[in-house]
Amino acid sequence: MICPNCSNFYDDSYAFCPYCGAEKPAPKICPRCEILTDISYNFCPRCGRPLVSIKDYRKKWKVCPRCNHKINNVAKQCPYCNHRF
Ligand SMILES: [Zn+2]
Ligand SMILES: [Zn+2]
Ligand SMILES: [Zn+2]
Repeated sequence: MICPNCSNFYDDSYAFCPYCGAEKPAPKICPRCEILTDISYNFCPRCGRPLVSIKDYRKKWKVCPRCNHKINNVAKQCPYCNHRF
């Protein structure tokens, strides 16, 4: 893993860079296949879609408390069961 802040190489299992203390970037995920990929990848190796950071991905989606479908975070109503938030 190469630190995006100081460009030093450090172990993948570390959560912070031991050289400059920068937090390890969040892994990336394909919004379609939902596979986690290496943080250095920009596109999904399976479907070619642009990858998003897992942090952004979690922010973007919420789970409907009534039907447990995954829906967009900005939605005010669940498209599956019409549950209002
Ligand atoms: Zn660093
Ligand atoms: Zn994909
Ligand atoms: Zn629902």
